[in-house]
Amino acid sequence: MSTEKDTSQRPQAAPSAGCLDIFKNIFSNTVTNQEQTYNEKNAKAYHALVNNNCSSSSSVSPPPAYSDSLRHKMNELSVNVGSSGDSTIKLSELWEHDEFAKTVHQAIESVSAEMRDISLKLHSDPELSYKEYHAHALLTDYLEKKGFTVERKAYGLDTAFVARAGNSDKVTIGICSEYDALPGIGHACGHNLIAISGIATAIGLKAAIDKFQLQAEIKLFGTPAEETSGGKIVMLNNGAFKDVDVCMMLHGANADVVYPAFLALDTVEVEYFGKASHASTSPWEGINALDAAILAYTNIGLMRQQMRPNQRVHGIIKDGGKAANIIPDYTHSAYTVRAPKYAEVEVLKKRVERIFKGAATATGCRVKLTWGNPYKDIVTNDPLTGKFVKYMNAQGLQYPSKQEQLSKLSGSTDMGNLTYAMPGIHPMFNILNLCGEDDKSMGLHTIAFAEAAAQPIGHTATLRAAKSLAMTGLECILDPAFLKKVKEDFAENV
Ligand SMILES: [Zn+2]
Ligand SMILES: [Zn+2]
Repeated sequence: MSTEKDTSQRPQAAPSAGCLDIFKNIFSNTVTNQEQTYNEKNAKAYHALVNNNCSSSSSVSPPPAYSDSLRHKMNELSVNVGSSGDSTIKLSELWEHDEFAKTVHQAIESVSAEMRDISLKLHSDPELSYKEYHAHALLTDYLEKKGFTVERKAYGLDTAFVARAGNSDKVTIGICSEYDALPGIGHACGHNLIAISGIATAIGLKAAIDKFQLQAEIKLFGTPAEETSGGKIVMLNNGAFKDVDVCMMLHGANADVVYPAFLALDTVEVEYFGKASHASTSPWEGINALDAAILAYTNIGLMRQQMRPNQRVHGIIKDGGKAANIIPDYTHSAYTVRAPKYAEVEVLKKRVERIFKGAATATGCRVKLTWGNPYKDIVTNDPLTGKFVKYMNAQGLQYPSKQEQLSKLSGSTDMGNLTYAMPGIHPMFNILNLCGEDDKSMGLHTIAFAEAAAQPIGHTATLRAAKSLAMTGLECILDPAFLKKVKEDFAENV
């Protein structure tokens, strides 16, 4: 695991040419009492988590000191990027001369400190899938105070919600906030930042809708359990997104990617039923369910030689028998099947099913296969991406080519299912620097990343991306021809 890395050093590395000067200094500012208190609490919380659940406790160092005055830094960012000279659109011009952009910018800026507070509260209280009760309360109470109409425990899930603003039967923009954490390593996927990215985006959009009396509705969805069983899929099946025209979300990462290559996946529980017998006195009377499990495991290993490099099948034996002197009458294995497109997963599923059934035939066992809720790949909407990139460019960020981005294989997400149901995007933004440089040494789902998810630079990156996402949504509202293009692209690619 890359948890042994000392994150306190990382942000002080010299930025490359073209980077913003403020990030040379952002970690060297005075630490406020409030953040110092958080620092100590946070370090304790992470040590407690790790000591309880993880073997590498000695490698964890306390998070580095936080800087003060984030709001001030964000304003400085606007000015600096606007004068950096390498963007096609000057940020300061954008914010100054486009009243819509100015409204979004100011609305998000005005809640920066509140977003920071919420983000740190979530981070220091990591809750697992479907147990995100504190997060649910914190976020819904806040949204209500901000004038949203909030439905708690929405769509059959105790920790899901939807917050609405505006009113229209013409266009509805959906945004997703995630807030579940990982066992043992807390917010190592940075969902505290995803939570505030969704809120900030919704606040930016709401401000524009209110100020300019736009005919549009925003729905901010609180979507639990992304890390395990896919809260969004349950919400989708329960009708949460049926009137939504486009749905978008952001995810922090160690790179800036607008075409994330999330793999589609499905999971399967494989049970073999045989017959027990004494392993020494009468093994010939038994039907060995472990033999079936081993045959399946081995044959999947052989099948990998004929799989494409970007396809994955991986699994474990959860129950391989009860005692060495009993021929096992029952075994239980679990596998995950992944491929870049969901259609490929379906083909791969048929191949592994033949293996599971073949192992049953060979050993005389009965097999039971229980497939899970598939996570589909992300169908990235090109027109929406174009707008998002335009606003990120305006804030000083350049992206590598689409091909290069798609070559970086990622995990899987339930957001994929939403992008099969309506136009959507899922940009990843770098929480480690704002310069577009990847940091390959610090991946998601590590303690180091969990620590990074509480740093001010990650907050800055989150609000920058949220402004771009809000502007992307606003373009859908303001330009029906653009929204039509978005829907045409969706129809062509799903
Ligand atoms: Zn994750
Ligand atoms: Zn995640």
